[in-house]
Amino acid sequence: MTTSDTIAGHDLETLREAVTGEVFAPGDAGYDQARQAWNLAIDERPAVVVMAESAADVAQAVRFARTHGMRIAPQGTGHGAEPLEPLRGAMLLRTSRMRSVRIDPVSRTARADAGAMWQDVTVPTGEHGLAALAGTSPNVGVTGYTLGGGIGWLARRYGLAANSVTAAEIVTPSGRFVRTDASHEPDLFWAVRGGGGSVGVVTALEMRLYPVRELYAGALFFPLQRAAQVLHAWRAWTDTVPDEVTSLGRILRLPPLPEIPEPLRGRDFALVEAAYLGDADAGSELLGPLRRLGPELDTFATIPAPRLQQVHMDPDQPVPNQGDGAFLADFPAAAIDELVALAGPDADTPLLSIEVRHLGGALARPAPGAGAQPDIGARYLMFAGGITPTPELVGTVRAHAQAVKDALAPWHASYDYYNFEETPAMASAVLPAASYRRLREIKASYDPDQAIISAHPVWPSRGDTRPNNSHGNEMES
Ligand SMILES: Cc1cc2nc3c(=O)[nH]c(=O)nc-3n(C[C@H](O)[C@H](O)[C@H](O)COP(=O)(O)OP(=O)(O)OC[C@H]3O[C@@H](n4cnc5c(N)ncnc54)[C@H](O)[C@@H]3O)c2cc1C
Repeated sequence: MTTSDTIAGHDLETLREAVTGEVFAPGDAGYDQARQAWNLAIDERPAVVVMAESAADVAQAVRFARTHGMRIAPQGTGHGAEPLEPLRGAMLLRTSRMRSVRIDPVSRTARADAGAMWQDVTVPTGEHGLAALAGTSPNVGVTGYTLGGGIGWLARRYGLAANSVTAAEIVTPSGRFVRTDASHEPDLFWAVRGGGGSVGVVTALEMRLYPVRELYAGALFFPLQRAAQVLHAWRAWTDTVPDEVTSLGRILRLPPLPEIPEPLRGRDFALVEAAYLGDADAGSELLGPLRRLGPELDTFATIPAPRLQQVHMDPDQPVPNQGDGAFLADFPAAAIDELVALAGPDADTPLLSIEVRHLGGALARPAPGAGAQPDIGARYLMFAGGITPTPELVGTVRAHAQAVKDALAPWHASYDYYNFEETPAMASAVLPAASYRRLREIKASYDPDQAIISAHPVWPSRGDTRPNNSHGNEMES
């Protein structure tokens, strides 16, 4: 496939007439804003940016790109822009203006247009006493998160968000609009549920909702000096809790920003965050062993389900950041000691947050009719990241995140988590091997020319066996 860095002005006029949304090329006022990802450290310069307003716009944009030999990078918020390959000569197809959400409380389902953020879903579902399988952050996109799996506060009870998707509307790389579900184009439906966005541009997802009105959730804050004690105690505690508890252990260095409340601003902590699907009495009893360690601050309370998205204190505005993560087969005492040595009270690190999430429960059981991530054998999930307000910090933060990941290598699972793998990596590095093989065949049917650029690329299967590089990724031919 050939691509060009510039498109003739008259061709762009054709595109502008064909779509309702705006179209920007380099040099246009608004181009820089349109190409800006939520992660401000990313500086992609596509040949054209289309701000789609509807599925019809998406189809027109895809057809235009294909006619002009351009590749297409679908994007909602740009939270997951870090692993993307350079977009030179490509179309950045943004769905961020497609944010409609419909809730059906009777069938307990939600339909979210491709650009919806999680807060667009969690707030209205909460009004019906229902909850979607959202992630920790209110402004992460429903689509990118769900296509990559989706591990949130209800994960140990209800599994991956991708496996609760009941239908997906997609514009295929040939420009065809399809509605897929278990009985319509089932391969495509399988691929987008956990296999990422490499087989087409999703325009809407439908998903199951669960009867969750309130939870007992919050965080215990301990001074960072107690990191080893707290993480060892949390790890032991995770062996005892039911599937109704999803939790994480965390090291957090809060920056001295005015929006952070006074007792926490500029301070370093070891934390346990958790959500329990049950009442305060039972939740308090479960939490007892950790509470008895004597936290400096205890925010646990019964909260309405939409408030879950404040528990993790994810940033509410775009920030420049770098990070990386890994599935861990286990997180034993020796792994905790490695982590504390690299990021604990005596470490000189620019990392703002290093978290280890407890998996298992429903995540570990094969989901009926599942997509590309049917179950997750890893018992824990690590993510390390930091903010990079100056370009010099990008390399430093990245190196420290990589060092944490490397130190935990003896406990890595056989592949990484799709959504937390922020270094460029093929889909083979973030999916079970059997799923990657099937995905390559589906890619060959729907996108043999590799027109779609996705977070973790998939090369169409041509029935060959490709060599692996040192990361277990198949090499580009
Ligand atoms: C602050 C923060 C908190 C997070 N918390 C969690 C969490 O709790 N659990 C978790 O699992 N993950 C979490 N993540 C990771 C997050 O799920 C991924 O970064 C995800 O890719 C973000 O999706 P997005 O749509 O917002 O991002 P985008 O960058 O817009 O999309 C990411 C990728 O998804 C694909 N994609 C997006 N839209 C489409 C589309 N319409 N059609 C086809 N492909 C598409 C593309 O390949 C795109 O490159 C978090 C990330 C951040 C930054």
